[in-house]
Amino acid sequence: MGGTGSTRNERDSRVPARAGALVAMRATHIFGAGDIRVIDVPDPAIQASTDAVVRVSRACVCGSDLHPYHSLAPTTEGVSIGHEFIGVVEEIGADVTTVTPGDFVIAPFAVSCGVCEFCRTGLQTSCVDGGFWNDGQLGTTGGQAEAVRVPLADGTLVAVPGVTASTDETLLASLLTLSDVYGTGWHAAIRGGVTPGSTVTVIGDGAVGLLAVLSARQLGAARIVLMGRHELRTDLGREFGATDVVAARGPEGIAAVRELTAGGSSIVLEAVGHLPAYEQAVGIVRPGGVISRVGVPQYEEAPVGFGSLFGHNITLTGGPAPVRAYIERLLPAVLDGSVQPGRVFDRTVSLSDTPTAYKAMDARQALKVMVRP
Ligand SMILES: [Zn+2]
Ligand SMILES: [Zn+2]
Repeated sequence: MGGTGSTRNERDSRVPARAGALVAMRATHIFGAGDIRVIDVPDPAIQASTDAVVRVSRACVCGSDLHPYHSLAPTTEGVSIGHEFIGVVEEIGADVTTVTPGDFVIAPFAVSCGVCEFCRTGLQTSCVDGGFWNDGQLGTTGGQAEAVRVPLADGTLVAVPGVTASTDETLLASLLTLSDVYGTGWHAAIRGGVTPGSTVTVIGDGAVGLLAVLSARQLGAARIVLMGRHELRTDLGREFGATDVVAARGPEGIAAVRELTAGGSSIVLEAVGHLPAYEQAVGIVRPGGVISRVGVPQYEEAPVGFGSLFGHNITLTGGPAPVRAYIERLLPAVLDGSVQPGRVFDRTVSLSDTPTAYKAMDARQALKVMVRP
């Protein structure tokens, strides 16, 4: 937003008051490892002229939500959680122009301005004014709630014409994957450089790994090896386009993939984030190949020297997916039903049952759980 200070003040003064709003809503908070509760919190309101308030239609639990679920130190106040949601715009600030109340929107897992150097080049996760949900500095809260205040609404939200909160469940599920897991799987494949005819190995049979398979297939990969040991998941992976499944891990898994790919996979998409998965990637990548990571690394130190990456000219890439950059590209096939990334959801719970969603995903009884406020 440009202009002088006085212009900005004038604009801020035009931010509408939130007349008639609910005084409280239900939202999911984490109070420490294993302690998820759904509590009453103040209803979100417009704070800046670039904000929108979105009424959540569907949200879900992410594999990355399980990291604090395992390790967060106890806190008496609780911290809001959840970063994947779709919903209907309820209210907008005076300077919001790309969405309007009533619009059905996809909210990416990162907030972005849409105009800075990084947003313009499609790296919205590095937006100079952006951030994430549940971010103390931005004052954002989480998506596993009845409503969310969305800062920088013009840059962040993507309106989907023709869709409403009562659209067919199958389509809503697939749209919800565009807020993170589908875009993240796609990012892995893009960073890996998948092109028609590529040989790709995907490490991880979680939602992101499975959607990395789908993405590699969409980009024309000829051979897609999926490494995972949960048969229901790897079966879905085969339906998404995996040509081979390797259940073995460690040296045995590495040997199996090297044999299947006659000496190593040119492209390895790592969708787990733990060190053994990285080591597996290093073990199966072909000389001159690429390792693309989208699993949030749970380590800071890993081999990069002569014996791992350097000696065979291996490229290491990946990072948080700028899913905002991919939504327009991925949306048409979702809307016409030719891809159904929403098949990764195998359970739905009400908002008040969100704690059970964490339990089920943590116990690997559910692949990905949708939350319905
Ligand atoms: Zn996520
Ligand atoms: Zn930006």
